[in-house]
Amino acid sequence: MITKPRSTVLKLADYYMGRDVEYRSELSRELRANARDTLRRVNRLLKRAGMMRKVSSGWRPAALNATVPGAASGSKHISCLAIDLEDRDGALDAWCMANLPVLEELGLWLEHPDATRGWCHLQTRPPRSGNRVFEP
Ligand SMILES: [Zn+2]
Repeated sequence: MITKPRSTVLKLADYYMGRDVEYRSELSRELRANARDTLRRVNRLLKRAGMMRKVSSGWRPAALNATVPGAASGSKHISCLAIDLEDRDGALDAWCMANLPVLEELGLWLEHPDATRGWCHLQTRPPRSGNRVFEP
């Protein structure tokens, strides 16, 4: 029997976290395009970093986001422009901080590691400040 090696690439299913079923009507063509773009950039980043990471929070439909403690009402997770990756040891956050030109090249912005202990938040649009690394 041939067993396929486990894919190291994050897939749309990882990003939607099954929410594309219950919240299907909210998942517009635009949001699907955003999700593909987010994954493309983040998969490139992980490849460059030589790391594997699981999605700890991907798409958050607006109704669901409203129930997440501390989640901003304008969160980019709602529009599929942001992703949280598990980062228990902080190694990915640290790699990002040490490789900001790579984030710039890929068009990614990072929430400051001090505000994301245990995970890494990346987004494909600049925050209001325009800073590559920003405070939530
Ligand atoms: Zn996030």
